[in-house]
Amino acid sequence: GSIMEKKLSVVVSVYNEEQALPMFYETTKLILEILPWDYELLFVNDGSRDDSLSILREYAARDEKVKFVSFSRNFGHEAAMIAGIDYADGDGIVCMDADLQHPPECLPEIVRKFEEGCGVISMVRTKNKSAGLIKNITSAGFYRVINALSDVKFEPNASDFFAISKEAAEVLRKNYREKVRFLRGYVQSIGFQKTTITYEAHDRVAGESKYSIKKLLAFSLNTIMCFSNLPLKLGIYAGAFAGLLGVAVMIYTLSGCAQRLRYHRDLKLLYVCDPVSDRGHYRRVYRDSVQRAEGPANLYRARNTECGEKICVREKKIRRSYSGGF
Ligand code: UDP
Ligand code: MG
Repeated sequence: GSIMEKKLSVVVSVYNEEQALPMFYETTKLILEILPWDYELLFVNDGSRDDSLSILREYAARDEKVKFVSFSRNFGHEAAMIAGIDYADGDGIVCMDADLQHPPECLPEIVRKFEEGCGVISMVRTKNKSAGLIKNITSAGFYRVINALSDVKFEPNASDFFAISKEAAEVLRKNYREKVRFLRGYVQSIGFQKTTITYEAHDRVAGESKYSIKKLLAFSLNTIMCFSNLPLKLGIYAGAFAGLLGVAVMIYTLSGCAQRLRYHRDLKLLYVCDPVSDRGHYRRVYRDSVQRAEGPANLYRARNTECGEKICVREKKIRRSYSGGF
């Protein structure tokens, strides 16, 4: 009828959730049935290797409100939500997990917010029971870092439990097609009338978390790359620093050369007054170059003994004058 014209799309990402799915389906269905809106339950099978897909097939066969999309392999939670948003045709779209950690009891309030004209509804968890202390601390740390680095301000504790109007979804569909992405970040940066609803995250009904530490780490790094140009700036700063350092070293080296040149010139001036030393000096320079050019200096020594002696005499004198002056 005409009252049922509006429709809620519930997008559920599913990865190896055969144990949680029956409970999720039963519980969520009960609540969807009492909503003032029509609904569709859109599952996205993210390459599950268990029986999830056949369960979804069965639900879709017997329940006309159930639809599903199935990936050829595991692409990750974010990709699953994006695919769900692509296929959803409701006036409002809710993304939620299949493990009942996102309570379907919130759906009526979400619909109310849509009716008030909200475009983006962030679900903020007050407590995360099943997540351990470590996960809660790292999550808080992550939001602090990303908020410090990024121009976009993220709702701390914003989960991948959120709801968007079909207008907001259209913006995501058209303009946010990056391969590396942070959906809940986009959701908060597209504008529209925003609101938050708080909820208490329940324990996972069955199965275990599909987010490994490795996945979380990759996810966090991707997010920082997506929403902050600090890494890029760091590269530019490092480049500029290295460039300046190069110039400084060049100046230093050149001025050192200049000094040495000056030193040699002074010596030469001295030598002009003292032709013997002068000759000695130039011979030494000559000897060095001959040695370099011809290898062992036997040849040279044979030719220049006389001068070699002179140098020795002179050096003895100098050494004596340094060591006490007699
Ligand atoms: N999920 C998914 N693809 C993945 C990992 C998880 O679609 O690669 C789904 C999973 O089935 C669940 C939701 O994303 O519905 C959240 O995952 P999970 O509950 O394991 O994460 P946690 O709540 O522990 O952070
Ligand atoms: Mg979960």
